[in-house]
Amino acid sequence: MSKEYERYREHMAEIRALNSAQGLLSWDQETYMPVDGLSARAESRAVLSGLVHDRTVDEGFGDLLAALAAADLDATSAANVRETIRDRDRAVKVPRELVTELARVTTLAQQAWVKARETDDWPLFSPLLAEVLELRRRQADALGYVSEPYDALLDEYEPGADSEQIAAVFADLRAQLIPLVAAIGDAGPREDVLARRRYPEPAQIELSLRVLKAMGFDFRAGRLDKSAHPFTTGISARDVRLTSHYDEGDLAKSLYSTIHEGGHGLYEQGLPLAEAGLPLGEAVSLGIHESQSRLWENQVGRSRVFVDWLMPQLRELFPGVLDDVDPDGFHRAVNIVRPSLIRIEADEVTYNLHIILRMELERALLRGDLEVDDLPGQWNERMAADLGVSPGNDAEGVLQDIHWSFGLFGYFPTYALGNLYAAQLFATARDELDGLDDRIARGDFLPLLEWMREKIHVHGRRHTAGELCRLATGRDLDSRPFLDHLNRKFGALYNLPTGDVRA
Ligand code: ZN
Repeated sequence: MSKEYERYREHMAEIRALNSAQGLLSWDQETYMPVDGLSARAESRAVLSGLVHDRTVDEGFGDLLAALAAADLDATSAANVRETIRDRDRAVKVPRELVTELARVTTLAQQAWVKARETDDWPLFSPLLAEVLELRRRQADALGYVSEPYDALLDEYEPGADSEQIAAVFADLRAQLIPLVAAIGDAGPREDVLARRRYPEPAQIELSLRVLKAMGFDFRAGRLDKSAHPFTTGISARDVRLTSHYDEGDLAKSLYSTIHEGGHGLYEQGLPLAEAGLPLGEAVSLGIHESQSRLWENQVGRSRVFVDWLMPQLRELFPGVLDDVDPDGFHRAVNIVRPSLIRIEADEVTYNLHIILRMELERALLRGDLEVDDLPGQWNERMAADLGVSPGNDAEGVLQDIHWSFGLFGYFPTYALGNLYAAQLFATARDELDGLDDRIARGDFLPLLEWMREKIHVHGRRHTAGELCRLATGRDLDSRPFLDHLNRKFGALYNLPTGDVRA
């Protein structure tokens, strides 16, 4: 290995150490930190972010990268250097003054958002949102883009993605989802047989641990804790922290949150150890990350065959509680479709409509085609048109998500991309793996995990998400596998007339 490449690795090891410390501080903040620790913690994290930024934009480091880019490197080293240059370019292009200003305004916007949502007071939040939007527009200009500012922001979460192309996939998806949601609505409401029962928390935690072990999550290289909002933090591939949340009246909530985070965790644990701290040891995009969580949560966890394995575990852990519920009943209960106002409570069928609406509004805001003042009205109109429900107030409408207060424009699409990637990957895995359904019914999840390791995890950021999708599934991302999955599954669950089923 060349001397320069060795120096590059040393420099990256420093950045990695700072990022690990950051990750651990934020994990601790969400799990065990006493409340009064918050202001000192916020300061420590700000200092560490500043150090990461300084180490990244360092001029000597820029020269080193330029020298390496011109050198004759093996494919793996060249890919690391290429991706590090990409990251550094993004960091260098945005003036420090803009970064600080964004940090300041988004802190204020978050505080205002919390109050505005609590008291349903849109005018309290909207001036700050307008400021955040303006700063993000300036950031997009600084970063540069080909066709619209939204591309520059989206690129942060889904490198190499193109808004126009994603919007086209989403438009097709929306056109198919709206009649499907209507047909399910016509089939009449379904009763949730899991409701009005008590599921003790210790047994729910035991269930979470059991499911994660079965999925192949390695507890020597990770752990599960509690937090208000479930999340996953990869401190390193050998130290992956998951959290879940528990409600004694709601078994599905903790079960599916745990499976979801477990999917994220398996991806983190599957990243190549030899490339730790380098781009090839990192997740490729948020969309692919979400594909891993959604695959386990929905394609596996909400399938009928999975319930065959799950049901005996439930009977053992919650003795007597589910005596009158059979596997079919459980499967129906965790797949109830009901258009609702709140994205995070949405089912598999309606979820993407919430995302498509957000992406279209975000693009219009960034282009200047929509004013912040007109956002609540547009939001309510679209909810009525797409989902047939109307928010009674802004708290359960335009104010429901925290994302925009952080300035996270361009982030939402990655959730829907995750659902589409998950369906396409799972359909391919099912074609390639003999008897996958039977194995899932027996709790043998290893073949699926190994397939995902080989096709997705080991590559880190060697390819873009789009390339990875082509390599793993043989084609570009499209909405067909996802729609086929929905039509097949919900067509059967809701006895839809075959005319509505376009599988
Ligand atoms: Zn997720």
